[in-house]
Amino acid sequence: MSGPGEGRDPDLAAKAAYGRLRAAHLHAVRAALEDHIARLDWPRERIEHYRDQRLRALLAHARERSPFHARRLRDLDPSSATVADLARLPVMTKQETQQDWDSIVTVPDLTRERAEGILGQQRWFSYTPGGQQIFSSGGSSGVRGVYVWDWDLFVSFACLAWRMQTRQERRDPPLRRQAKLAVLQAGGPPHASTPLFDVATVAGMDTVVIPASAPFEEVLAAVAAARPTHLVGYATVVGRLARAAAAGDLDIQPVRVSTNSEPLLEEDRQAIADAWNVPVHNLWGSTEIGVAATGCGGGAGLHVCEDEVVLERVDEAGVPVAPHEPAARTLATGLANRTFPFIRYDLGDEVAVLPGPCECGSEFVRLADIAGRLDDDFRYPTCTVPASAFRSVLGTDPRIAEYQVRQTATGAHILAVGSPDVPSLIQAIASKLRRQGLPDPEVQVDVVDGIQRRSVGGKLRRFVALKGTDRGTDPPAPSGSR
Ligand SMILES: [Zn+2]
Repeated sequence: MSGPGEGRDPDLAAKAAYGRLRAAHLHAVRAALEDHIARLDWPRERIEHYRDQRLRALLAHARERSPFHARRLRDLDPSSATVADLARLPVMTKQETQQDWDSIVTVPDLTRERAEGILGQQRWFSYTPGGQQIFSSGGSSGVRGVYVWDWDLFVSFACLAWRMQTRQERRDPPLRRQAKLAVLQAGGPPHASTPLFDVATVAGMDTVVIPASAPFEEVLAAVAAARPTHLVGYATVVGRLARAAAAGDLDIQPVRVSTNSEPLLEEDRQAIADAWNVPVHNLWGSTEIGVAATGCGGGAGLHVCEDEVVLERVDEAGVPVAPHEPAARTLATGLANRTFPFIRYDLGDEVAVLPGPCECGSEFVRLADIAGRLDDDFRYPTCTVPASAFRSVLGTDPRIAEYQVRQTATGAHILAVGSPDVPSLIQAIASKLRRQGLPDPEVQVDVVDGIQRRSVGGKLRRFVALKGTDRGTDPPAPSGSR
């Protein structure tokens, strides 16, 4: 089947081919969603039994097919391994995953070079002949990463992203309007967020993608025109829309809201409650591990997706700590990722376990909401520029390995490791800043050999904002976020 014009325009033909496979993929997601929703009611023993079997399958497969993991798993017997045995394995860092890419990947026809080639050539999202999708992300550490999601992995992630909402939706009275999901994500490649969240889960639901990095007035107008019944998007963008609604600048009546990609700050959660008084499903995830924990819309915090990911809260030395003890960082093992296994991968974020059962009835362990990094937004006297404005340029340039953005009074000073085209980079960033409302932005880019990391945890501080006094305006109010 081919549409009008496809024969002449190779871009159009590629986009149409993507659309056909994507439609097939979404049917697979909706089929698997039934099983995923049922799992939410599993008792503890069943969750743990399922998780342990999947862990053994992952470890055995990784040891057989990934030279990187074969070395690390040498002294572990996958056939009897449990979650507790993971502590015997070394931590896997982001730098390692990117440097050792070709010895981690488990399929013979995929290399880092080939993945970069796909990212460089595709004009729109695409599938490899093997059904894989290649994504790139700046991530929270400032190191650019290239990732592969195979067919089954995407089905798993999409089910995890949507099963809580869908379960609640089925318990609610049916919607009396045409269901429409407004998707406020990156909007295009190489980010994974749009394919992951542009998923209709209610019968007859339409979806509309609204790129969240556009100037806010454009986002606001597009959301108003879409009249969505459901919203999914960056937490700060959804929060800002809620404030606009409370101020009378946006007239929509959503029945359910889902937030992701950024910490959900208390101020944004409150704004959503004030504007619409609807259930909020927050999500914690990453391009590497996919969806790690999701909010049920009822009880506090986020339920860990224990059936698809193992999280270990560890101290500085990588040794697991008890649930009530503070942890230095979180390690994740993705049970569904067979093509590029992540085993004890350092997510960086600190998480705390919530005690007691949840009002929704699910026995999946809960975490407190993930703490926010408030300093990631730059507040200038005339406007606020979200970190995503920089990240969308710097985090996806294959010639930039690592970067740091320092706010200046009139723009930004950027340190970049790699070999970027500096003049075009300055132009791209300045254009982003102008679109966010900063007049005559001054952008400086220095190519450097390395960037000083924080002594604790070795994490890079990607965004360094000016203090309130330095930028001549009041500092933001405390958020109350943990
Ligand atoms: Zn719950």
